[in-house]
Amino acid sequence: IRKKLVAGNWKMYKTLHEADAFAQELVEYRDMLSPSSVDALICAPFTALCGLGEKLKQVHVKLGAQHMHEAEQGAWTGEISAAMLQDLGCEYVILGHSERRQFFAESDEAVAKKTCVALDASMVPIVCVGESLSEREAGATQTVVSRQLGIVLEMLQLQKAKGALDGAFVIAYEPVWAIGSGKSSSAQDAQDVATLIRSLVTATLGQRAGEQVRIVYGGSVKPDNIQTYVQQPDIDGALIGGASLQVASFVALVEQV
Ligand code: 13P
Repeated sequence: IRKKLVAGNWKMYKTLHEADAFAQELVEYRDMLSPSSVDALICAPFTALCGLGEKLKQVHVKLGAQHMHEAEQGAWTGEISAAMLQDLGCEYVILGHSERRQFFAESDEAVAKKTCVALDASMVPIVCVGESLSEREAGATQTVVSRQLGIVLEMLQLQKAKGALDGAFVIAYEPVWAIGSGKSSSAQDAQDVATLIRSLVTATLGQRAGEQVRIVYGGSVKPDNIQTYVQQPDIDGALIGGASLQVASFVALVEQV
């Protein structure tokens, strides 16, 4: 049985002080956050990571980053490596978010390399895939998702990255048109894409990986619609932007799952 994941992506929100205040306020909700059936996660900006992991641990919330470079180290001004994230206690890292693909030209190949590097560093990668509005309107959703994921899965298979064959990674299906728009995908459409994703993982990495990989939906998820997604047989949680920024709504998201 796959453990559900409720992951907040804070994007470029919250100063150090604001992140600390969030963790502090969470203490009041500690008992609501402890269900062993759900992993609650916050992916904070780099500047807020230091020290946040310890505070979140006290309220049963895990810590993740939103991006990382694939090189071990080197002359990559402004970038952050897997080892640096590990130092700060990150257990998860979001890779290939559509905002990174769209505005920072991250390629499918780069996302695939990062996925292997994260797994080798014993972090859980959350690999994001999803079609744009024009791709959806052209009926290309499945083609786009298959292409984005295909390269990742091939590289995982070739490199036999630690954990990949046990499905120790997360795939987030985030249709670009649903992000921050208030227009969420229908639960059935999200389930259909999740089924495709699971079958691609099974075909490349085997039955066990297909059964164990967690697939989450992202795009205008709120406390009042999260249930419709997680009730789907192939959807194991959600990746949430806007609604993860306030303590009350983050806690409500976790409670609904
Ligand atoms: P919203 O929940 O704000 O639509 O953002 C989704 C997202 O991009 C999470 O990574």
